[in-house]
Amino acid sequence: MTSSLMTSPGFRFLSPLLLLGIVSLSMDSIIHLTQSNWGIAANLPYILLGCALVMCYSFKQGRESMVCIALLFAYFVIQNRLQIPLQTGTTLLELTILATLLPVSFLAVFLFNKEGFDTKATLAYVFLLLMFAFWSYVTLTYYVEGGFEEWTNGVLFIVLNVSRLPLVLVLYCIGIVCFLGILVLKKNKIIHAMTYSAMVLASATFIFFDVQYISSTMFTITGLLIIIYSTSASHQLAFTDSLTLIPSRRALDLDLKHMGRKFTIAMLDVDHFKNFNDTYGHDTGDDVLKMVASRLMKAQGGAKVYRFGGEEFTIVFKGKYAEDCKVHIEEVREEVEQYEMILRDQHSRPDDNKQGRKKRGNAEKKRNTVSVTASFGVADSRSARNPADVIKLADEALYKAKKAGRNCVKYNLA
Ligand code: GH3
Ligand code: MG
Ligand code: MG
Repeated sequence: MTSSLMTSPGFRFLSPLLLLGIVSLSMDSIIHLTQSNWGIAANLPYILLGCALVMCYSFKQGRESMVCIALLFAYFVIQNRLQIPLQTGTTLLELTILATLLPVSFLAVFLFNKEGFDTKATLAYVFLLLMFAFWSYVTLTYYVEGGFEEWTNGVLFIVLNVSRLPLVLVLYCIGIVCFLGILVLKKNKIIHAMTYSAMVLASATFIFFDVQYISSTMFTITGLLIIIYSTSASHQLAFTDSLTLIPSRRALDLDLKHMGRKFTIAMLDVDHFKNFNDTYGHDTGDDVLKMVASRLMKAQGGAKVYRFGGEEFTIVFKGKYAEDCKVHIEEVREEVEQYEMILRDQHSRPDDNKQGRKKRGNAEKKRNTVSVTASFGVADSRSARNPADVIKLADEALYKAKKAGRNCVKYNLA
């Protein structure tokens, strides 16, 4: 559930480019459609981006909300200032300023805390956008006297075959698209996918600004994409365990509905975990669970791992009976057993800083390690057809593994 095709980095990287390709191929019919429905088409970006903003806000996606605000603001500027020929007055200069500042606004969201929705941070972001607008207004109003007729001659020269936008800005937009594209491919967080898509489509708007209805088309698509990203992010969150970041019990319940006839389920439980919590504290206990989850994720043979609850995990092998999974389960048991987790001696941690610095050298030496084991119970679909019954049988086998001295795998087969 956590890594579906829709949320893969490749899909997120390619989708705005593919959409751009489709739009450019069908631009004639889009122009025709927009012409006959201009009342709706002109307002569609406001409606979609407004909906996207409400969704991001309700899903507590603070930085994503900021991207929506920047886009709404930019579309407003385009509709109210730039709907006249570019050669008129300061229109081209205004487009240039917008093409410079919108990418800066996208990058600025990374300055803010990534967790949740923070009203103060959002207000600070809106203030930043208002400062950009104010600065642009001052530039356009008070410095035009100096003469902007020649302003496209120097570094801001235009290559008409490429775009009506100065070439340096075309390169600037492409550069930022590439930067955000790399972030999508490397990190693939929802905010990267959103800023990247918004940047691709906004760049296309600026670079091909003389194409009729380009802004309403591109901003409509951006609004749709943001709604899709926001929904898929919250969907992903609902099926991911918040501590270990692996698929949750809810994801398991859903996947158990599509198991087919042949499958094996292994239930596992961390040994003496209560003692561990009592000795080292709950936080270290949480670290152990994260470590166990990451070890289990290494399971081979098409295994899918879930956190069942507490210190229990489930491994599901679809299309395999128990004997084909034996080696993979044994591997993963050893994987957990062999990992040595480094612990800092909690009780010897000094309270004040000075003492801390003095003691740090010793503290490094005081680090000790701990290893964790887990017991496994396995059953497959030959014993019971219903996955819930197979889980019960695997649980019985797990109980036997505990009785047999823990850190071992027991089977409950027909
Ligand atoms: P056994 O070998 O028989 O499984 O012994 P055990 O101590 O692991 O079993 P028991 O079921 O008695 O203890 C499980 C403990 O797991 C109790 C609970 O406090 C702890 N636990 C459950 N969920 C979490 C969690 O998310 N974080 C931490 N730190 N502890 C948790
Ligand atoms: Mg337990
Ligand atoms: Mg346990």
